[in-house]
This record gives sequence, structure tokens and C-alpha cells, in this order.
Amino acid sequence: MAVIIDGKAVSAQVKENIKTEVSALQEKGISVALAVVLVGEDPASKIYVRNKKIACEAVGIQSKEFLLPESTSEDELLQLIQQLNEDPEINGILVQLPLPKQIREQKILESISPIKDVDAFHPVNVGKIMTGAFDFLPCTPAGCMELLHSAGITAEGKRCVVIGRSNIVGKPMAMLLLHEHGTVTICHSKTPNLAEICRTADILIAAVGRAKLVTADMVRPGAAVIDVGMNRQDGKLCGDVDFDQVEPIAGAITPVPGGVGPMTIAMLLKNTLKAAFLQNNL
Ligand code: NAP
Repeated sequence: MAVIIDGKAVSAQVKENIKTEVSALQEKGISVALAVVLVGEDPASKIYVRNKKIACEAVGIQSKEFLLPESTSEDELLQLIQQLNEDPEINGILVQLPLPKQIREQKILESISPIKDVDAFHPVNVGKIMTGAFDFLPCTPAGCMELLHSAGITAEGKRCVVIGRSNIVGKPMAMLLLHEHGTVTICHSKTPNLAEICRTADILIAAVGRAKLVTADMVRPGAAVIDVGMNRQDGKLCGDVDFDQVEPIAGAITPVPGGVGPMTIAMLLKNTLKAAFLQNNL
């Protein structure tokens, strides 16, 4: 039986700490604000934006929403970001993805000032993650690291396998494990012998987007298994790991829901607080 790593509980603790720090800043006359930009009517994006607003308010961070129509041009969005970059009352800027097809995502991400880039998607911040001299960490991989630490697990000296190589999750996840002195293998859709490689892992991170891809035969007894996946199967939310099969074998495991998901928002709040510290030279 694995230790179930409770993302709700860990994120609640992180948010409590952030709340304390936000109120200490407020006592010094410094407020913390996040600008959230949503273009269009994507229902999932609307839910994410609403959840981010609720989370900000719960810790005392102001959330300023900018809701733009689906027809917004790239130039109009660039203009708004320019204004937000220059606005001293805005500490963090988040542009909810995906964007409508007439807008180039990379162009927008590159237009956000690196010191307000709380998603850590700007090439400057991506480069800093490579070197280890980072200000902001990408929210989901940072959340996975906090979950491992909460269970007393560090990557040092461990064999780590990350399934998935996206810029948002897989690649930065591998870098964070490497910075912590793990020996890291990255797998993807062209990797032969996936099960065999996964079975070598002391720490297995699944960031694929395929429901229940990771089965019992892919997990080494006692391994820590972090499930980033958010999939729907038969109308129910499930991860990339077949939890019922893997839980009896693993040493520690995150559930879906209630694992990595709550941590991603907590890390966004942490980055927004960090941005406020940086911008106030604290
Ligand atoms: P993505 O950009 O689609 O990347 C998926 C990765 O998985 C790719 O590198 C792909 O390989 C690899 N892959 C696909 N099928 C595979 C297979 N059969 N075997 C091995 N590797 C395979 O997805 P993402 O943005 O990284 O997200 C991954 C999952 O995490 C999704 O379910 C997403 O919803 C979830 N997610 C959750 C949170 C959260 O807060 N909980 C945050 C972000 C994402 P190739 O590169 O070769 O195509």
C-alpha cells in the first residue's frame, strides 16, 4: 500500500504560508496583483481563470481579469500586454492558453516582461531554468517537486523517469529533478520499451495526457509515482496512471483529482508573490 500524497493538503499549507507573506507585505504598504488575460470563450479556460481568481482572493492577492473577445487581433493583445508590463500595480501577468488561431502563442509569451512572467514560459525564464539560476519555476513541475518533498522524497541519487517532453511539463520537470541530483531519463511517444524504462524508476512522473497509460507492470515496487495527467474516461476525471493497479505496488502516489492539480495553482500564487518581492527589491 502506497502513501497517498495529498495535493489538497499540501497546497493548503503552501497557500497559508503565502497568505501570511502577502499580509506582511500589505503592512509595509505593498499590495500584490496578478493580471489574468483570457481571449475568447473556451469553457475549460473560463473555469481555470475563475479558479485562479478564487485562489488569489483567498490569499489576499488581487486578481485583475482582462476578458477579450474571440476576434481579438495579435496586435491588440500585444498592446494590452505592453500596458500591463508598464503598470507598476501589476506584479504578475498570465495569459490563459490556448489562444485563438489568429494569435501566435509564442509571440505573446515572449512579449510578457520576464519579471512578470509568473508562468515561467518566457525564453529568458526557460533559460534560467536550464542554468539553475531561476527566479520563477513553471507551476506544474514546481508543484510536483513540492509534493515529492512533502513525502520526504528527494531526487538526489535516484533514478527518475519522466514520461512526456512538453515545454510546459515534461522538459522543465526533468530539469528540476536533475538540479536536485537525480539521474533523469525522458520518455516520449517515440520511446521504445517504455515499460522497461519506467520499471527502472525510483521516481516516475507521468505527464502524457493518456488515461491510465501507466500500468502495474511499468512500476518498480516502492517507487514514487507522480501523476500529472488530467483525462476524462467514461465521464470521470482520471490521470495517466492506472491508480487502482499501481497503488498497491508504489511506495508513494498522487491521486487524480487531488494530487498535482491543486499544486499548480498554489505555485502560480507563489510565483506572483515572488514577482512582488523582485519588483520591490526585497
Ligand atoms: P502534451 O504537450 O500533449 O505532451 C504530452 C507528451 O506525452 C508528449 O511529449 C508526447 O510525446 C508524450 N506521449 C504521448 N503519448 C505517449 C505514449 N503513448 N507514450 C509515451 N509518451 C507519450 O501534454 P502536456 O501539456 O505536457 O500535459 C500532459 C498531461 O498533463 C495532460 O493530461 C494535461 O492535461 C496534464 N496537465 C495537468 C496539469 C495539472 O495542473 N495537473 C498541468 C498541465 C498539464 P511526443 O513529444 O513524442 O509527442
